[in-house]
Amino acid sequence: MLASVLVDSGGNAVFFTGAGISTESGIPDFRSPQGLWTRISPEVFDIEFFYRSPDESWRMYVEHVYDVISAARPNAAHRAIAELEAMGLVRAVITQNIDRLHQKAGSRMVIELHGAYDEVECPSCGFRDKIDRYVERFRLEGKAPRCPQCNYLLKPAVVYFGEPLPQAELAESFSLARTSQGHGRRRHEPSRIPRSVSSGRGL
Ligand SMILES: [Zn+2]
Repeated sequence: MLASVLVDSGGNAVFFTGAGISTESGIPDFRSPQGLWTRISPEVFDIEFFYRSPDESWRMYVEHVYDVISAARPNAAHRAIAELEAMGLVRAVITQNIDRLHQKAGSRMVIELHGAYDEVECPSCGFRDKIDRYVERFRLEGKAPRCPQCNYLLKPAVVYFGEPLPQAELAESFSLARTSQGHGRRRHEPSRIPRSVSSGRGL
């Protein structure tokens, strides 16, 4: 039935996904009562805490975010969306997730509103890189990594509480929401993009 609805949409459907799609992959919902916050402090994604205690912030990130997500695999829902895209029935996936599981399932057009867990960025000069080697160095040294270009603190390329959402991704999401049709229309009008997005609150 979903497929026929999507055919009616002329291949213009847009999926909007959040934590719920990845819980079956073993990634906790960061905000639900059973979620990550029951085990660690929300400070792991707090930008003020990051600058106050960068080493501890990195330690929590590596243990509770990087290691958990690295071990996760896409589930049937991720794969179904990727297959629908391959069939030409889905135009894009807009996701609040940082876990890259849509891409690992084969989705190509993925807009990540909260960044991605497997990259680092330099808040000062904009340098970006894959995170893995910085994580490995952190495991050895226990020190938050520094930017190879400007020596500023490197930060996981994830939107933390207290940070704005990435403007290009946000603009693209609103544009897709305006132009998507069919089944997606009611759910994806700009006014219905979840509050956490429009309020600029990460994760
Ligand atoms: Zn830098």
